[in-house]
Amino acid sequence: MAGPQVLKHRRTTLERAEKFLSEHHFRDCNLRGRLFGASCPLVSLSCFSTPRRIPYDEAVRQEFRPVKVGESFGPTWWTCWFKAELSIPRGWAGKEVHLLWESDGEGMVWRDAQPVQGLTKEGEKTSYVLTEDLKEAEPHSLTVYVEVACNGLFGAGKDSLIGPPDPDKKFTLNKAELVVFHRDVHELLVDFEILVDMAKFLKEDNQRSLQALYMANQMVNLLDVMDASTFPAARQLASSLFGQRNGDSQHTIHAMGHCHIDSAWLWPYEESIRKCARSWVTVVRLMEKNPEFTFVCSQAQQFEWVRTRYPGLYAQIQDFVKEGRFIPVGGTWVEMDGNLPSGESMVRQFLQGQRFFLQQFGSLCSEFWLPDTFGYSAQLPQLMRGCGIRRFLTQKLSWSLVNTFPHSSFFWEGLDGSRVLVHFPPGDSYGLEGRVEEMLKTMSNNRDKGRVNHSTALFGFGDGGGGPTQKMLDRLRRMRDTDGLPRVQMSTPDRFFSVLEREETQLCTWVGELFLELHNGTYTTQAQIKKENRECERLLHDVEVLSSFALTQKSTFQYPSLKLQHLWRLLLLNQFHDVLPGSCIQLVVEDARRYYAEIRREASVLQKDAVQALFGKLLPTGPETAKSLLVLNTLPWERTEVISRTGEDTLALLKVPSMGYAAMEESLTPSCPVTVTKQADGSVSMENGAIAAHLDSLGRVMSLRLVHTGRESVQEGHGANQFVMFDDIPLYWDAWDVMDYHLETRKPITTLLKPLEVVLAGGLRGSVKFSLQISERSVITQEVILDAMCPYLRFVTEVDWAEAHKFLKVEFPLRVRSMNATYEIQFGHLQRPTHWNTSWDWARFEVWSHKWMDLSEHGFGVALLNDCKYGASVHRDVMSLSLLRAPKSPDATADIGRHQFSYAMMPHQGSFQEAGVIQWAYNFNFPLHTVPAGSAPGLAWSAFSVDSPAIVLETVKQAEDRLDSLVVRLYESHGSTVVAWLQTSLPIKDAIECDLLEQPEPSSRLLLTEHGLKFSFTPFQVRSVLLILRQ
Ligand SMILES: [Zn+2]
Repeated sequence: MAGPQVLKHRRTTLERAEKFLSEHHFRDCNLRGRLFGASCPLVSLSCFSTPRRIPYDEAVRQEFRPVKVGESFGPTWWTCWFKAELSIPRGWAGKEVHLLWESDGEGMVWRDAQPVQGLTKEGEKTSYVLTEDLKEAEPHSLTVYVEVACNGLFGAGKDSLIGPPDPDKKFTLNKAELVVFHRDVHELLVDFEILVDMAKFLKEDNQRSLQALYMANQMVNLLDVMDASTFPAARQLASSLFGQRNGDSQHTIHAMGHCHIDSAWLWPYEESIRKCARSWVTVVRLMEKNPEFTFVCSQAQQFEWVRTRYPGLYAQIQDFVKEGRFIPVGGTWVEMDGNLPSGESMVRQFLQGQRFFLQQFGSLCSEFWLPDTFGYSAQLPQLMRGCGIRRFLTQKLSWSLVNTFPHSSFFWEGLDGSRVLVHFPPGDSYGLEGRVEEMLKTMSNNRDKGRVNHSTALFGFGDGGGGPTQKMLDRLRRMRDTDGLPRVQMSTPDRFFSVLEREETQLCTWVGELFLELHNGTYTTQAQIKKENRECERLLHDVEVLSSFALTQKSTFQYPSLKLQHLWRLLLLNQFHDVLPGSCIQLVVEDARRYYAEIRREASVLQKDAVQALFGKLLPTGPETAKSLLVLNTLPWERTEVISRTGEDTLALLKVPSMGYAAMEESLTPSCPVTVTKQADGSVSMENGAIAAHLDSLGRVMSLRLVHTGRESVQEGHGANQFVMFDDIPLYWDAWDVMDYHLETRKPITTLLKPLEVVLAGGLRGSVKFSLQISERSVITQEVILDAMCPYLRFVTEVDWAEAHKFLKVEFPLRVRSMNATYEIQFGHLQRPTHWNTSWDWARFEVWSHKWMDLSEHGFGVALLNDCKYGASVHRDVMSLSLLRAPKSPDATADIGRHQFSYAMMPHQGSFQEAGVIQWAYNFNFPLHTVPAGSAPGLAWSAFSVDSPAIVLETVKQAEDRLDSLVVRLYESHGSTVVAWLQTSLPIKDAIECDLLEQPEPSSRLLLTEHGLKFSFTPFQVRSVLLILRQ
C-alpha cells in the first residue's frame, strides 16, 4: 500500500535519486554500494619491468618477482608485466565473476597467450569478466598476465594534459582481486541514471522531465538495496517509462561506436600500436555480448599494425568486419593533416588506404573520415571522388573560435566543382559516452533538422584510444525509442548517409575550403618536420620519375615498387594530424625524423640505381674521366638555370629538356650577366637584365624593379624582406594556436650583426650576405642571390633559434593593391581576402599555402616562393611568410636549434599564370640533378612534355598492379578550361584514363596520335592515365 504523497520539491527529489547512485556519498546504504558482492584476493601476484615494448612470448620467459597491491612501478614509458594466479571460490557458483584491476597506466590482459581485454581507469575499464555465470565444470584456477604500459590514455604530461611528459612518473597498482559482480544492480543503476538525466536535462517544465523524476523517486521508495527480490519491480517501473514511444516526427540519431586513436601524439608510434590492440580487443569482447553493437574504425596503418603484431585479434576483427559490425572507414592510410600534405601525398593516402581495405576486407571505404583534423583543403572533394568516395564525416569545425559553421549536413563543393556529402556529428565530439545530455545536444545542435531529421553520434573514449564501454551501450539501449528523447539507433555510416542521400535535394552547398579558425600555429610549428616532409615529397617524386625513365629505357631494370610503397607509407604516417602539424611530444618528433632519414637514405639509393640503369657506362669510374655533366630534369618543362657543379665550386648555366636529361660539356653564356654594385652607404644593387634589386645595409629590399618596364614592387619608404618578431602566447593549445592578438606585438628586427657584404660579384650569379641579431640568443644569417636568366631574388636563410613563445616572420610591403591574394594548395590555388571586413575574413589572419603565394593587380604582381614553409598571410598590401615559432607544450624543445630555409621574391608582369609563377615555384622546389659523366656530345632526351602552360604533369610512376604500365597524373593549374597535348617519346602501346586508385575508367581509351595524347581539362581538374608500354 502506497504511503502519503509528499511535497513536490524538485531539488530534494532529484538529489535524493542522485545520492542513491552516488560514488561518493552514502555508499554504505545506496545502490551503487551494492554493485560488487564478495571479493577474494589473488593467489599470487608477481611482476617484472622493462624499458622496451616486448611481445608476450618474450615477456612470459622473464623472471617475475613477487609484488603486492599498493606498490608502484615505472618510470614513464616502461612496461610492467604482471603475472596473476587466480582461484575462484567454489561457493561462487552461478555468480558473475570479475577480475577487478585498478592501476595507473594502460593495461592489457593476456590469457592463454592471447590478448583478451584492455584495461584503463581513464577509459572506465577496470574489470575483466572471468565468467558471467560460474559453472561447476569451469576451471576455477587460472593464470593471466597483465601488461601495463607506464603511460595514461593521454601520455604522461607533467602538470597538464599537453605538458611535456614527466619522465619520472610512478604508476600504482591500487586493486587486483576477484569480485562477484551484481549485474542486476548495474542494470538498475543505468535505469536510474537515464531517468535522473531526463529529469535534469529536459526542461524543468517538460512533462517527461517530471515523469522521469517522479518515476525515479518511486523506484527509490520501492527498493531495498539489501534485498534483490525488490529489484525486478523497480526495473519494471523504469522500463514502463522507457517503453512509452515517440511520435513519427521524432529526431533519429545514428549511434556508432568509435575510438579515435591518434597514431602518435602525446605518446610515440610504438605505443599507438598497443593502444589499437587494447582498444580493439575490448570492442571485440563487447561485440560478442551485444549483437546490435557497431563500431567504426579508420586508418589502414592501424589495421596493418594489428595485423602484423596481433594476428589472433586481427582474425577476430576480420570476422566482425564480415558481419558488417566492425566497419572500416576513411579510405586513407592515416587520418592525415588536411592542409599541408601535397596533392600527390593526399592521393597516396587514399591509394595506400583504399588498396589495403580492398585487399584485407574485400571492399573500398565509401566514407572519408577525418573527425579531428585542423582544416580541410578545397581540393579534397575531387580527390575523394577520384578514390571512390562521395561522403565525408568530420566535426572539427565546431572548434572554430570565431564563426559558427552554418550546416550539420550539406554538400561540399571543391575547387574543381566536385561535390561530396558531408555530415558534422552535431554532438561536436567523436568521443560521446552515450548520455542523455549528449543525445539532446545532438538533436538541438543539428542545424539541418528541419530538412533532414537525422544525426550521427559517435560514442567511445577517444584520442588516446579506449573506445566504447558496456555502460555506454546499456545507456543507448534505453534510449532506443523513449518518448521525449531522440530515437537512438545503433547504425552504420552507410545507413546514415543513405538516409541523407534520399533527402539530399533539401541540403545547402558550401563552396571552397573548410577553414578551421583555430590551430593556425600548426602551419609553422616544428619547422624541421615540415621541411623534411616537403623534401621527402620531392625525393619520392623524383625517384618515381627517374625509375619510370629507367623502366622504359632499360629492359632489365626492376622498378622498386615494394621499396617505394614502404617509403611512401612512412611519409604518409608522418602526415598524421599531430605529427606534420607539429602538435606532438619530442619522442614523436624523434620517431618522425628517423623515418624521414630512412626515406632520404633509401630514396637516394633508389635514385642512384635509376641513374645507373639509365646511363650505365657513361658514368665515370673516377674523377679524371668526367668530361661532361649529365643534367636531369624531373619537371615537365624545359629549364634553363644556373647550377653549382657537384663537388666543385664553379657555376654553370644549363638548359635541359622537359622531363628528361642532357649532357653538357660547358656552361651556356647568359644573354645578360648579373651585376653587383656596392654603394658608398653600404647598400648594394644587383641586376640581371630582368629584375633589378636594391638592398640596404640591413639586407632589406628597398627596391625591386622589372627592368623592361621599370615597375617597382616595394612600397615607397618601406623595405621588403623585413624580419619581424611577435609575442606568441596562446590561450592554451601552445604548439597549435597563434592568436590574432599576437599581431599587436609586432617588433621589426633591426640589430645588425654583420653588415651587408658582397659574396659573389656577378656574372652567372651575384650574391650578398648579412647577419641580424634577433635577440641575445638568436641570429639570422642570410645570403641574397640573383642568378642570370632568373626572374626572382632568392633568400637563403639560416637561423639559430633559441626563443620562448616568439613568432618570427618576414614581411614584404608591396606596391600592389588587391582585395584578394592567391595561395597555392594541392593541385591548384585559391584566393583569400586581404582585408578584415567580416568576422570570416579576420578569422583568417594566419593561413596556409604551399610552394607559392601571390598578390597581383591587373598587369602586375609579386609572388613569394618558398621551399619548406606553410604559414602565411597577406593583409592589405603586406605579404608575410611565417618562419619559426617557439611553443613549449607538448614539446619543450620544439624548434630550438639551427634552421635552414629559402624563399624568393618574384615580381612579374601580367598575371601569375602568364608569368609562370607556378612553374618557377616548382623549379625552386625541385632542383636539377647533376651527375658527372664521360663525354656524351649532343646527348639529350625528353620523356614527356605538355604543350599548354596551364597543365602540370605532376606524377609519373609505375602502375600499382600492372608492371607493363605507367601512370601519369596531370592537373589544370591556371583555373581554366583548356585542351592540351601530352607528348611522349616513350614506347606507348595504349593509353586508358583511370581514377586516382588507378582503376581504368570504362570506355576511356585515349587516342594516341603522332602528336601524343589529347586531353581537355576544366579548371583544376586532375586526370590520371594508364600508359601501357610496348614490350
Ligand atoms: Zn586526433
